[in-house]
Amino acid sequence: MEILQITKDKIVKSSKRFTTLFVVIFIAFPLVIIVNSNTSFSLFEQFTKGKVLLVGEIENVKNNTNVTTNGGTVHKISDGGNIKGEFNNTMSKGKIQNSTKTTQERPATTTGLKNDTMTSSTNDPTLHTPIHNDKEKLLNGLLASGFEDASCVSRLQSHLYRKVSPHKPSSYLISKLRNYEEIHRRCGPNGKDYHKSMRKILNSGDASICKYLIWTPANGLGNQMVSMAATFMYALLTNRVMLVRFRKDKQGIFCEPFLNSTWLLPEKSPFWNENHVETYQSLIEKEKANNNSKLDLPSSLFLNLQYRPNLPEKFFHCDHSQALIIKVPLLILQSDQYFVPSLFMTPFFNKELEKMFVEKDTVFHHLGRYLFHPSNEAWRLITNFYQAHLAKADEKIGLQIRVFNPTLTPQEAIMNLVLNCTIHNKLLPKVLGMKNSSDKNKTIVKVVLVASLYPEYGDNLKTMYTNKSTSSGEIIEVHQASGEEQQKFNDNKHNMKAWVDMYLLSLSDVLVTTSLSTFGYVAQGLGNLRPWLLYKIISNDTHFPACEREFSMEPCYHAPPKHYCSGKPIKDFASSFIYMRKCKDFWFGVKLLSDINS
Ligand code: GDP
Repeated sequence: MEILQITKDKIVKSSKRFTTLFVVIFIAFPLVIIVNSNTSFSLFEQFTKGKVLLVGEIENVKNNTNVTTNGGTVHKISDGGNIKGEFNNTMSKGKIQNSTKTTQERPATTTGLKNDTMTSSTNDPTLHTPIHNDKEKLLNGLLASGFEDASCVSRLQSHLYRKVSPHKPSSYLISKLRNYEEIHRRCGPNGKDYHKSMRKILNSGDASICKYLIWTPANGLGNQMVSMAATFMYALLTNRVMLVRFRKDKQGIFCEPFLNSTWLLPEKSPFWNENHVETYQSLIEKEKANNNSKLDLPSSLFLNLQYRPNLPEKFFHCDHSQALIIKVPLLILQSDQYFVPSLFMTPFFNKELEKMFVEKDTVFHHLGRYLFHPSNEAWRLITNFYQAHLAKADEKIGLQIRVFNPTLTPQEAIMNLVLNCTIHNKLLPKVLGMKNSSDKNKTIVKVVLVASLYPEYGDNLKTMYTNKSTSSGEIIEVHQASGEEQQKFNDNKHNMKAWVDMYLLSLSDVLVTTSLSTFGYVAQGLGNLRPWLLYKIISNDTHFPACEREFSMEPCYHAPPKHYCSGKPIKDFASSFIYMRKCKDFWFGVKLLSDINS
């Protein structure tokens, strides 16, 4: 019976198996293929109109396969090869990685890089969180929902590359942002009130319906980004619509930050130059001469907040100046500075700022993450470089080497400074000698991302660590994404590389930056990183300590006011403005900090 039963069971099972096999081969499999190809297509369409790698592809990298620019599959990422060539190649092609999907794409999950960088455990429950985890994706409400995903893939994916920020935006900041977006939509170049308002401003008519703040660049991209963030802060505080003068050099680098609108000053705007516009300085002087009696105010004003140490005090941080400016409907603001601390010094704005930022050292962190999303092209460059060189690291060290006086400062002196800093603070190990066979088991890999105009720094460090055993047993890999040799102005590709470098640095676990460099400030603020600040050497000198740890991730304001509004000189910022301290890297500068006891 039992045997029969077993045989019968077997027959039943076999016939079930046969049916299953039949269903699988003739029905399910073709269906899977059809569904899969559709799904792949729609996902591909959705995420990669800009041809950015998908999470499934990110997984490939994790599994030691790499998708190449020509669509083939390379096994095991090598030590990077000619990364500058590769970078240039991808830059010059203008498009990268028409990414061949080498493995079946799974529904997008966070199984990508963030977990690689934080933990290698496959039991991590976050591995199974869907990509459309809006809270994370929208940075806890900082970002508005409703953008078309394909228009800006980085907005959708950046949270996969970053650790979750421990700094949550306050509900007040979020409400200010949503309110701002409303105003921008209505008053911005595509809005219903834009032309009417501009006409009124140009005809110097009655008060315009909308007020504007036109940001104008000065200096390098880092300077421009910190000043854009400060300008946006000012726009938020004064309910002005911020428009940016982006010439060709910045086109296609960032996504549009404001929903259903644009922040680009229209090409036809008469406000592309300020020749016909009254200056803030002359207005202030007129007001003084007028003995504070009523002035005829212009409908537009040019305000220059650039670093100019020898110019007279501007008193921009004073209520009486703000009371004047507020009545002018259109402001053109030029700055290379992160002037947010001066807004905190202005009684007019102080209460509002305190409500917006509970943690005072998170202003750039939040506003930078809100405003600066890499365009799809920039995102391709960032993610491709990340996946090829950084994704596999147990720890990523960003090393920003900015040389302000290349003719005066020998490379050797800078290299010594960098090594003294990194080795002394145990960021990098000492080199012991050539690798021997016992080193093969050592698996901790630290990847150093060097950002510098000069490729020699990355090359030197690479030579130093390649095939060497180290005091900690760690394997050190070194990569540099670009080496432009010199700073270029009005150059789109050059700016793109700078933005890619800043963004990649911001994805580091540990950051070393150069004193005084706004390039480094952008990276530290976006990345929630308190960097090690390399001492600024000028000639062939040495300095001990070679670097110091920053106390706040906020950028330093290099040109703070020197006087109180009464005209008395400010001797000590900290005693009058509790959230401000002198910068470590620039004695005349000030920056915000949260912990007022430090
Ligand atoms: P700062 O002068 O260091 O405050 O930074 P800025 O960004 O304002 O100006 C420096 C400019 O030089 C950058 O915007 C780039 O154009 C270029 N540059 C300097 N360092 C680097 C670097 O490490 N990588 C790249 N790609 N460009 C750099």
